Amino acid sequence: MAVTHPRTDTTRPESDARFRPRGTLRRAATMLSPAAAVANKAALERDAGDRVERLITAATDRIHQRRHPTRPRMRALIASGGARLAWQDIPVPQDPGPDGAMVRPIAVATCDLDRALALGATPFPLSLSIGHECAAEVLTVGERVTTVAPGQRVCVPFQINCGRCLPCRAGLTSNCAEVPPLSMYGFGMGGGHWGGALADQLAVPYADAMLVPLPDGVDPVAAASVSDTICDGYRHIAPHLPGLLRRDPDADVLLIGCLGRRTIYSPSVTLYAGQLALALGARRVRLADGRPEVRAAAERLGLEPLRPRDLRHATPAPLVVAATVSSRGVWTALSLTAPDGVCSSVGGLHRTARIPAIGMYTHNASFHVGRTNARALMPGVLDLMAAGRFHPERVISTHGALDDAPRLLARHYRSSDIKTVLSAA
Ligand SMILES: [Zn+2]
Ligand SMILES: [Zn+2]
Repeated sequence: MAVTHPRTDTTRPESDARFRPRGTLRRAATMLSPAAAVANKAALERDAGDRVERLITAATDRIHQRRHPTRPRMRALIASGGARLAWQDIPVPQDPGPDGAMVRPIAVATCDLDRALALGATPFPLSLSIGHECAAEVLTVGERVTTVAPGQRVCVPFQINCGRCLPCRAGLTSNCAEVPPLSMYGFGMGGGHWGGALADQLAVPYADAMLVPLPDGVDPVAAASVSDTICDGYRHIAPHLPGLLRRDPDADVLLIGCLGRRTIYSPSVTLYAGQLALALGARRVRLADGRPEVRAAAERLGLEPLRPRDLRHATPAPLVVAATVSSRGVWTALSLTAPDGVCSSVGGLHRTARIPAIGMYTHNASFHVGRTNARALMPGVLDLMAAGRFHPERVISTHGALDDAPRLLARHYRSSDIKTVLSAA
């Protein structure tokens, strides 16, 4: 399945870019920022030796394969500084062993973080093999794999997890104890060198634990984001809404997006959360966002769009999703959480935030912040899709061919495009 491609398909964002790549100095400043220090500390707080070993193994393997190639080669899309994207010819990943599988991504989606990642606005160092949301076809499986077989179509979680350790068995798959913290596809060195989904092949080290077969009738294009952003939307709704609806059938959901007019982050998690809230029985879901295109998308999905200024007179909701990257947004979300309600935060993109603690205390409000346990949540969203109750494909704004990835992704990164999905012919 190794395909060799020339290194000619390089695309640079056009000069009228709405979002521009960060230059070397600003990129370096981002990588040395206080937020980066916190992220680096978390990445190394456990199994730092394993992490360093993976880094050294990846570097020596690269040099060795260049001098004495033993493995076939494949194409992989590499994002480099200056938001350059190019197919590169690299060795196929190393054999993942008896518990692993080799898969071929057939539908790959952008994550809400990808624009910032590719433009150099995150602490993750470039260059990297980009892409961490995909549906794939199984190519080969190791001798101990029993739940998937070659030819089968599967969803691939973006986080690496073993399925056997204590956190994995408890469904806390984002903190698998068998791999270094923050082990994930598509984040290069920062994610632990696991490869990216925009490649001909991806190695899955724990196939039985990680891969979930795509249910019959579910389109891989619709399911590409199940790897990450769809489950990220689901985790804000599914654990909380059913209980709130039992208490009050009119319990509504308030989604707080970007309170300014522009942010580098895409809004798909927020839109999926809104769709899932309706699918799980909420009669009313409001989404406040300063971006007109996001309000228009929300309206098309049956959500009630609000301008940020409308929040001044908004009624509190028992379930509030804080999909905001500003400290003010977190404060607003917590202030609009009704008594005995829950506020669930999409990201820790702000290093610190003020919280209205006394108000939360008197209201018995809960605040959830953390990362999604993607693998544990995947079956729940796939069941909803198979039953026709949830249609994540309605969030896709651009769909094109995988071969056209450099051009379509360059367009996604420089514009306010919401979700690009690329699929194999
Ligand atoms: Zn992601
Ligand atoms: Zn584990």
